[in-house]
Amino acid sequence: MSETSTVPTAPLRARAEIDLAALRANVHALRARARGAALMAVVKSDAYGHGAVPCARAARAAGATWLGTATPEEALALRAAGLPGRLLCWLWVPGGPWRQAIEADIDVSLSGVWALREAVGAARAAGRTARVHLKADTGLGRNGCQPADWPELVAESLRAQAEGLVRITGLWSHFACADEPGHPSIAAQLDLFRDLVAYAEERGVRPEVRHIANSPATLTLPETHFDLVRTGIAMYGISPSPELGTPADFGLRPVMTLSASLAQVKQVPGGHGVSYGHHYVTPGETTLGLVPVGYADGIPRHASGTGPVLIGGKWRTVAGRVAMDQFVVDLGGDELPVGTEAVLFGPGDRGEPTAEDWAGACGTIAYEIVTRIGTRVPRVHVNEEEAG
Ligand SMILES: *Cc1c(COP(=O)(O)O)cnc(C)c1O
Repeated sequence: MSETSTVPTAPLRARAEIDLAALRANVHALRARARGAALMAVVKSDAYGHGAVPCARAARAAGATWLGTATPEEALALRAAGLPGRLLCWLWVPGGPWRQAIEADIDVSLSGVWALREAVGAARAAGRTARVHLKADTGLGRNGCQPADWPELVAESLRAQAEGLVRITGLWSHFACADEPGHPSIAAQLDLFRDLVAYAEERGVRPEVRHIANSPATLTLPETHFDLVRTGIAMYGISPSPELGTPADFGLRPVMTLSASLAQVKQVPGGHGVSYGHHYVTPGETTLGLVPVGYADGIPRHASGTGPVLIGGKWRTVAGRVAMDQFVVDLGGDELPVGTEAVLFGPGDRGEPTAEDWAGACGTIAYEIVTRIGTRVPRVHVNEEEAG
């Protein structure tokens, strides 16, 4: 992924501008909401499409003491880029790079005894102590140790700890419905998490951090903060769900602005079919603008006929199908110069749509809109340094 610290002067086909000042301000806002807890900046999946290394650095500068990734490869890449400090990764399969992770001082998550055995073997081979977080499934029904298997995982981990092969640094879990205020699973998961933590502590586990809160829980459920909150989407300035509120309601500002330069503007007669399948036909004589990004760049094909774009001060709509590399908008007769900026989404304060607007237009969530932007779109990181 290309990363630049200055705005290039040459016009780009398309660019995702990443405002690191906004990201730092979001981290400060989230820390203020979870004052008793440390903050983990979740930078999995290339920081939700924003560029893992610059975002991780900016989050650290703003006081995130932990970084979090899904895969060990993502965590190792951050270490290779020189990022220090605590770093947890949680999505493991048998045969994963346990030893490299342990040697790189990465905390690893264990969701079962098989994973403990892999970590123990790697720790022994490396002659090091693995730092491990035991993960409980308190009701998400996804990754994590079932409550029935928790006693075995705790007992075996304590045995390995007594041998100096592991140190249990974390006890943790993840919510299913923290973005749905009042959902009964929230209280049930929290109660079970407290019970499982108490069980482990009664048997001698002394975790540095107990953690369960993701972005929606960090924003709206203070009783879930414990020692550490793990924020992803909110740090990128996007509300976890429109139901909870807008980014501004939480003092957050969207970090990514996706724009492109019009590659063609032309007059066409009425009755002209537009793009594959002719699902749009010009209602009368008009102008068409060609936006040179498509589904290979992560523009959802589901935006065909619905996606909003700010061009020449007005919202336009994707006309016809999104193709692999481009889509068309009906400019309604406006004669704009080729090269005019088309803003697909951004913070919204220049009148442009937001990632939430795209999510609504495509029947998905804003997480997916930003995360899926492809590697062909250069990320242009701005405000890398603190001003002043
Ligand atoms: C992705 C993820 C998070 C961050 O979730 P957000 O809703 O983006 O804050 C936290 N914890 C785990 C285990 C995750 O997979």
